[in-house]
Amino acid sequence: MRVAMISYNAFVDGERNGWKKQGDNAVLLLQNEDGSKWGVDQNATNSAELKAGAGDCVAKINGLWEQLVEALPTIDKVVFYVGSFGAERVIYLAAEHGLTPDKAVFVRCDCNMTKKMSVIRDCGFSSSKVVDCECGGHSTMRRLYDDALTKGNLPN
Ligand SMILES: [Zn+2]
Repeated sequence: MRVAMISYNAFVDGERNGWKKQGDNAVLLLQNEDGSKWGVDQNATNSAELKAGAGDCVAKINGLWEQLVEALPTIDKVVFYVGSFGAERVIYLAAEHGLTPDKAVFVRCDCNMTKKMSVIRDCGFSSSKVVDCECGGHSTMRRLYDDALTKGNLPN
């Protein structure tokens, strides 16, 4: 099983991005690499700060996606963390690049939920697996990463 996992936060401490392999299992790790657990400012309160945060989020996702796009046709499942404002960018990219709903797993926290779910629906991913998670997705993404790498398992 070949899996890609993408988040603008960091969920595997100290790991660089790229392919991780264990036996027949391979995971393409794509996470925030700037050394912080959170890829965007968590203290934004006013609308200007939120807008800046959403912009940062989109920029991070675009950068990570560039590392995914070439490998995409060879990947069995892509696990996306979909967090706060701007995070829906990754859903649009998946749709633009023709990812089919059976290959997508969305890990979502409660933030901006209405918007996220409408983008998932509008992009044709209504039938994709959705996993609820804590805000930031750190421990849920880590658990899925360990399962995919050591057991070749992902939620169906
Ligand atoms: Zn959240």
